[in-house]
Amino acid sequence: LIAIVLDRQPSGTRRLRLGQDHADPQPPPGEVRIRTSLAGICNTDLEIVQGYAGFEGVLGHEFVGVVDLAEDPALLGQRVVGEINVPCGTCPTCCANRPTHCPDRTALGIRGRDGVLAEYFCLPARNLHLVPEGIPDRVAVFTEPLAAACEILEQVHVRPTDRVVVLGDGKLGLLVAQVLALTGCELTVLGHHAAKLAILARQGIPTQVGDDGLAASADVVVECTGRAEGFDLARRLVRPRGMLVLKSTCHDLVQTDLSRLVVDEIHVVGSRCGPFSAALRLLSQGLIDVTSLVEAEYALGDALLALEHAGRRGALKVLVRS
Ligand SMILES: [Zn+2]
Ligand SMILES: [Zn+2]
Repeated sequence: LIAIVLDRQPSGTRRLRLGQDHADPQPPPGEVRIRTSLAGICNTDLEIVQGYAGFEGVLGHEFVGVVDLAEDPALLGQRVVGEINVPCGTCPTCCANRPTHCPDRTALGIRGRDGVLAEYFCLPARNLHLVPEGIPDRVAVFTEPLAAACEILEQVHVRPTDRVVVLGDGKLGLLVAQVLALTGCELTVLGHHAAKLAILARQGIPTQVGDDGLAASADVVVECTGRAEGFDLARRLVRPRGMLVLKSTCHDLVQTDLSRLVVDEIHVVGSRCGPFSAALRLLSQGLIDVTSLVEAEYALGDALLALEHAGRRGALKVLVRS
Protein backbone atom coordinates (compact mmCIF):
# COMPACT_ATOMS: atom_id res chain seq x y z
CA LEU A 1 0.00 0.00 0.00
CA ILE A 2 1.07 3.58 -0.64
CA ALA A 3 2.02 5.85 2.28
CA ILE A 4 4.09 8.98 2.86
CA VAL A 5 6.68 7.97 5.44
CA LEU A 6 9.11 10.12 7.39
CA ASP A 7 12.26 8.11 8.25
CA ARG A 8 15.11 9.04 10.48
CA GLN A 9 18.43 8.15 8.88
CA PRO A 10 21.30 6.72 10.99
CA SER A 11 22.97 10.13 10.55
CA GLY A 12 20.03 11.73 12.39
CA THR A 13 18.68 13.54 9.33
CA ARG A 14 15.11 12.97 8.21
CA ARG A 15 13.96 11.66 4.87
CA LEU A 16 10.44 11.82 3.51
CA ARG A 17 9.60 9.08 1.01
CA LEU A 18 6.72 7.57 -0.89
CA GLY A 19 6.42 4.03 0.48
CA GLN A 20 4.93 1.60 -2.07
CA ASP A 21 4.89 -1.50 0.14
CA HIS A 22 3.40 -0.10 3.34
CA ALA A 23 1.78 -2.88 5.44
CA ASP A 24 -2.01 -3.04 5.62
CA PRO A 25 -2.77 -1.63 9.13
CA GLN A 26 -4.82 -3.90 11.40
CA PRO A 27 -6.87 -2.10 14.08
CA PRO A 28 -6.18 -3.13 17.70
CA PRO A 29 -9.21 -3.60 20.03
CA GLY A 30 -11.32 -0.43 20.25
CA GLU A 31 -9.96 0.94 16.99
CA VAL A 32 -11.27 1.01 13.44
CA ARG A 33 -9.54 1.03 10.09
CA ILE A 34 -10.34 4.02 7.88
CA ARG A 35 -9.83 4.37 4.14
CA THR A 36 -8.60 7.92 3.57
CA SER A 37 -10.74 9.82 1.05
CA LEU A 38 -9.14 13.23 1.30
CA ALA A 39 -6.29 14.53 3.47
CA GLY A 40 -5.15 18.09 4.15
CA ILE A 41 -1.55 19.22 4.53
CA CYS A 42 -1.00 21.68 7.35
CA ASN A 43 1.98 23.70 8.54
CA THR A 44 2.45 21.25 11.41
CA ASP A 45 3.23 18.54 8.83
CA LEU A 46 5.84 20.78 7.26
CA GLU A 47 7.31 21.57 10.70
CA ILE A 48 7.43 17.82 11.48
CA VAL A 49 9.45 17.20 8.30
CA GLN A 50 11.85 19.86 9.63
CA GLY A 51 12.18 17.94 12.90
CA TYR A 52 9.40 19.31 15.11
CA ALA A 53 8.09 16.68 17.59
CA GLY A 54 10.79 14.17 16.56
CA PHE A 55 8.21 12.10 14.68
CA GLU A 56 8.88 9.06 12.51
CA GLY A 57 6.20 7.22 10.56
CA VAL A 58 3.31 8.03 8.22
CA LEU A 59 2.67 11.78 8.08
CA GLY A 60 -0.70 13.57 8.12
CA HIS A 61 -3.56 14.24 10.56
CA GLU A 62 -6.27 16.16 8.66
CA PHE A 63 -8.65 13.77 6.91
CA VAL A 64 -12.09 12.70 5.89
CA GLY A 65 -12.47 9.00 5.22
CA VAL A 66 -14.70 5.92 5.30
CA VAL A 67 -14.63 3.23 8.02
CA ASP A 68 -13.81 -0.10 6.39
CA LEU A 69 -13.02 -2.35 9.39
CA ALA A 70 -14.76 -2.01 12.78
CA GLU A 71 -16.00 -4.10 15.70
CA ASP A 72 -19.26 -2.10 15.64
CA PRO A 73 -21.06 -2.96 12.36
CA ALA A 74 -22.96 0.36 12.58
CA LEU A 75 -19.69 2.17 11.85
CA LEU A 76 -18.87 0.24 8.67
CA GLY A 77 -19.13 2.40 5.57
CA GLN A 78 -19.65 5.61 7.58
CA ARG A 79 -17.99 8.80 6.37
CA VAL A 80 -16.01 10.20 9.29
CA VAL A 81 -13.54 12.77 10.53
CA GLY A 82 -11.54 12.08 13.69
CA GLU A 83 -9.91 13.73 16.67
CA ILE A 84 -6.18 13.30 16.41
CA ASN A 85 -5.20 12.81 20.07
CA VAL A 86 -5.43 9.31 21.51
CA PRO A 87 -5.15 9.57 25.32
CA CYS A 88 -4.49 6.64 27.66
CA GLY A 89 -7.80 7.24 29.45
CA THR A 90 -6.58 6.25 32.91
CA CYS A 91 -3.85 8.67 34.06
CA PRO A 92 -4.53 11.63 36.42
CA THR A 93 -4.58 14.07 33.46
CA CYS A 94 -7.16 11.96 31.61
CA CYS A 95 -9.23 11.53 34.80
CA ALA A 96 -9.15 15.33 35.24
CA ASN A 97 -10.76 15.59 31.78
CA ARG A 98 -7.73 17.00 29.99
CA PRO A 99 -7.29 14.14 27.52
CA THR A 100 -5.54 16.23 24.84
CA HIS A 101 -2.75 16.75 27.39
CA CYS A 102 -2.39 13.09 28.45
CA PRO A 103 1.39 12.60 28.85
CA ASP A 104 1.07 9.11 27.35
CA ARG A 105 -1.06 10.16 24.38
CA THR A 106 -0.34 9.36 20.81
CA ALA A 107 -1.36 11.78 18.08
CA LEU A 108 -2.22 10.91 14.51
CA GLY A 109 0.79 11.52 12.28
CA ILE A 110 2.47 13.62 14.98
CA ARG A 111 3.38 11.44 17.94
CA GLY A 112 3.74 7.67 18.08
CA ARG A 113 0.94 6.87 15.61
CA ASP A 114 0.91 6.53 11.83
CA GLY A 115 -1.06 9.28 10.10
CA VAL A 116 -3.46 9.71 7.23
CA LEU A 117 -1.26 10.26 4.15
CA ALA A 118 -1.82 6.59 3.32
CA GLU A 119 -4.55 4.46 1.79
CA TYR A 120 -5.57 3.16 5.24
CA PHE A 121 -4.91 4.07 8.86
CA CYS A 122 -6.34 3.23 12.32
CA LEU A 123 -7.98 5.36 15.00
CA PRO A 124 -10.09 4.54 18.10
CA ALA A 125 -13.82 4.42 17.37
CA ARG A 126 -14.42 6.98 20.14
CA ASN A 127 -12.32 9.56 18.25
CA LEU A 128 -14.69 9.53 15.28
CA HIS A 129 -17.37 12.03 14.30
CA LEU A 130 -19.86 11.18 11.56
CA VAL A 131 -19.91 13.73 8.76
CA PRO A 132 -23.42 15.07 8.01
CA GLU A 133 -24.54 14.29 4.45
CA GLY A 134 -24.68 17.93 3.39
CA ILE A 135 -20.96 18.48 3.98
CA PRO A 136 -18.83 17.45 0.97
CA ASP A 137 -15.38 15.91 1.47
CA ARG A 138 -13.61 19.10 0.38
CA VAL A 139 -15.35 20.92 3.26
CA ALA A 140 -15.23 18.14 5.87
CA VAL A 141 -11.45 17.84 5.51
CA PHE A 142 -11.23 21.25 7.23
CA THR A 143 -12.88 20.01 10.45
CA GLU A 144 -9.60 19.52 12.33
CA PRO A 145 -8.04 22.93 11.63
CA LEU A 146 -11.42 24.64 12.13
CA ALA A 147 -11.74 22.89 15.51
CA ALA A 148 -8.31 24.28 16.38
CA ALA A 149 -9.60 27.76 15.50
CA CYS A 150 -12.68 27.20 17.70
CA GLU A 151 -10.40 26.27 20.62
CA ILE A 152 -9.59 29.98 21.07
CA LEU A 153 -13.18 30.65 22.11
CA GLU A 154 -13.04 27.68 24.50
CA GLN A 155 -10.10 29.36 26.23
CA VAL A 156 -10.66 33.11 25.94
CA HIS A 157 -13.80 35.15 26.44
CA VAL A 158 -13.92 37.34 23.33
CA ARG A 159 -16.52 40.02 23.94
CA PRO A 160 -18.48 41.64 21.12
CA THR A 161 -16.99 44.95 22.28
CA ASP A 162 -13.37 43.69 22.11
CA ARG A 163 -10.81 44.95 19.62
CA VAL A 164 -9.21 41.83 18.17
CA VAL A 165 -6.28 41.51 15.78
CA VAL A 166 -5.48 38.28 13.93
CA LEU A 167 -1.90 38.16 12.65
CA GLY A 168 -1.37 36.06 9.56
CA ASP A 169 -3.37 35.34 6.41
CA GLY A 170 -2.28 31.72 6.07
CA LYS A 171 -4.58 28.70 6.25
CA LEU A 172 -5.04 28.88 10.01
CA GLY A 173 -5.32 32.67 10.19
CA LEU A 174 -8.15 32.66 7.64
CA LEU A 175 -10.08 30.08 9.70
CA VAL A 176 -9.37 31.82 13.01
CA ALA A 177 -10.54 35.15 11.61
CA GLN A 178 -13.84 33.69 10.39
CA VAL A 179 -14.51 32.03 13.76
CA LEU A 180 -13.72 35.21 15.72
CA ALA A 181 -15.87 37.31 13.38
CA LEU A 182 -18.87 35.27 14.60
CA THR A 183 -18.50 36.89 18.04
CA GLY A 184 -19.27 40.33 16.62
CA CYS A 185 -15.96 41.70 17.91
CA GLU A 186 -14.13 44.61 16.24
CA LEU A 187 -11.80 42.45 14.18
CA THR A 188 -8.83 43.35 11.98
CA VAL A 189 -6.77 40.77 10.13
CA LEU A 190 -3.18 41.61 9.21
CA GLY A 191 -1.47 39.80 6.38
CA HIS A 192 0.90 40.10 3.46
CA HIS A 193 -1.21 38.75 0.59
CA ALA A 194 -4.02 40.88 -0.82
CA ALA A 195 -5.53 37.88 -2.65
CA LYS A 196 -5.84 35.87 0.56
CA LEU A 197 -7.15 38.77 2.60
CA ALA A 198 -9.79 39.23 -0.12
CA ILE A 199 -11.34 35.90 0.97
CA LEU A 200 -12.12 37.60 4.30
CA ALA A 201 -13.01 40.98 2.82
CA ARG A 202 -15.75 39.23 0.79
CA GLN A 203 -17.33 38.37 4.13
CA GLY A 204 -17.08 41.90 5.44
CA ILE A 205 -14.09 41.19 7.69
CA PRO A 206 -11.72 44.21 7.81
CA THR A 207 -8.19 43.41 6.64
CA GLN A 208 -4.92 45.25 6.26
CA VAL A 209 -1.62 44.58 4.49
CA GLY A 210 1.20 45.30 6.94
CA ASP A 211 0.87 46.84 10.40
CA ASP A 212 1.04 50.57 9.55
CA GLY A 213 -1.05 52.79 11.79
CA LEU A 214 -1.92 50.13 14.34
CA ALA A 215 -1.37 51.10 17.97
CA ALA A 216 -0.89 48.85 20.99
CA SER A 217 -4.59 48.90 21.63
CA ALA A 218 -5.96 45.42 20.90
CA ASP A 219 -7.72 43.59 23.72
CA VAL A 220 -6.84 40.28 22.10
CA VAL A 221 -4.15 39.46 19.52
CA VAL A 222 -4.08 36.01 17.92
CA GLU A 223 -0.73 35.04 16.43
CA CYS A 224 -1.17 32.76 13.39
CA THR A 225 1.82 33.74 11.26
CA GLY A 226 3.74 30.49 11.73
CA ARG A 227 6.88 32.60 11.93
CA ALA A 228 9.09 33.43 14.90
CA GLU A 229 8.83 37.19 14.18
CA GLY A 230 5.05 37.02 14.64
CA PHE A 231 5.32 36.90 18.41
CA ASP A 232 7.08 40.25 18.69
CA LEU A 233 4.56 42.02 16.45
CA ALA A 234 1.70 40.42 18.41
CA ARG A 235 3.25 41.67 21.65
CA ARG A 236 3.51 45.19 20.23
CA LEU A 237 -0.16 45.33 19.21
CA VAL A 238 -1.74 44.12 22.47
CA ARG A 239 -2.80 46.63 25.10
CA PRO A 240 -1.57 46.45 28.71
CA ARG A 241 -3.35 43.56 30.49
CA GLY A 242 -4.52 42.32 27.12
CA MET A 243 -4.49 38.75 25.83
CA LEU A 244 -1.98 37.19 23.47
CA VAL A 245 -3.12 33.91 21.90
CA LEU A 246 -0.47 31.77 20.22
CA LYS A 247 -1.63 29.35 17.52
CA SER A 248 1.57 28.71 15.53
CA THR A 249 3.70 25.63 16.14
CA CYS A 250 6.82 27.30 14.86
CA HIS A 251 10.06 25.32 14.87
CA ASP A 252 12.25 28.43 15.08
CA LEU A 253 13.06 29.98 18.44
CA VAL A 254 11.39 33.30 19.25
CA GLN A 255 13.57 36.32 20.11
CA THR A 256 11.63 38.87 22.10
CA ASP A 257 11.84 41.19 25.09
CA LEU A 258 9.88 39.24 27.70
CA SER A 259 10.10 42.12 30.19
CA ARG A 260 7.48 43.93 28.05
CA LEU A 261 5.06 41.14 28.95
CA VAL A 262 5.83 41.71 32.62
CA VAL A 263 5.56 45.49 32.54
CA ASP A 264 2.34 45.43 30.50
CA GLU A 265 0.93 42.45 32.48
CA ILE A 266 0.07 40.54 29.31
CA HIS A 267 -1.77 37.20 29.44
CA VAL A 268 -0.24 34.66 27.08
CA VAL A 269 -2.34 31.67 26.04
CA GLY A 270 -1.11 28.74 24.00
CA SER A 271 -3.87 27.17 21.94
CA ARG A 272 -3.93 23.85 20.08
CA CYS A 273 -6.61 21.23 19.34
CA GLY A 274 -10.30 22.05 19.64
CA PRO A 275 -13.88 20.75 19.56
CA PHE A 276 -14.83 18.77 16.42
CA SER A 277 -18.56 18.84 17.12
CA ALA A 278 -18.59 22.66 17.06
CA ALA A 279 -16.47 22.76 13.90
CA LEU A 280 -18.82 20.35 12.10
CA ARG A 281 -21.79 22.46 13.20
CA LEU A 282 -20.23 25.62 11.76
CA LEU A 283 -19.45 23.80 8.51
CA SER A 284 -22.93 22.33 8.15
CA GLN A 285 -24.48 25.75 8.76
CA GLY A 286 -22.27 27.20 6.02
CA LEU A 287 -20.87 29.83 8.39
CA ILE A 288 -17.23 29.33 7.35
CA ASP A 289 -15.90 29.61 3.79
CA VAL A 290 -13.32 26.85 3.50
CA THR A 291 -13.46 26.02 -0.20
CA SER A 292 -11.79 29.35 -1.06
CA LEU A 293 -8.82 28.09 0.96
CA VAL A 294 -8.18 25.10 -1.33
CA GLU A 295 -5.16 25.83 -3.48
CA ALA A 296 -4.52 22.46 -5.12
CA GLU A 297 -5.41 18.78 -5.01
CA TYR A 298 -2.97 15.93 -5.71
CA ALA A 299 -3.30 12.14 -5.92
CA LEU A 300 -1.76 10.17 -3.03
CA GLY A 301 0.94 8.86 -5.38
CA ASP A 302 1.98 12.49 -5.94
CA ALA A 303 1.87 13.43 -2.26
CA LEU A 304 5.56 14.36 -2.16
CA LEU A 305 4.79 16.99 -4.79
CA ALA A 306 1.80 18.05 -2.69
CA LEU A 307 4.05 18.58 0.34
CA GLU A 308 6.52 20.54 -1.77
CA HIS A 309 3.64 22.70 -3.03
CA ALA A 310 2.28 23.23 0.51
CA GLY A 311 5.74 24.42 1.58
CA ARG A 312 5.87 27.21 -0.99
CA ARG A 313 5.64 30.63 0.57
CA GLY A 314 2.08 31.81 0.80
CA ALA A 315 0.53 28.49 -0.25
CA LEU A 316 -3.00 27.86 1.02
CA LYS A 317 -4.51 24.40 1.64
CA VAL A 318 -3.15 21.57 -0.45
CA LEU A 319 -5.29 18.42 -0.44
CA VAL A 320 -4.33 14.83 -1.20
CA ARG A 321 -6.94 12.50 -2.70
CA SER A 322 -6.64 8.72 -2.14
ZN1 LIG B 1 -3.05 20.47 11.27
ZN1 LIG C 1 -3.77 9.70 30.08
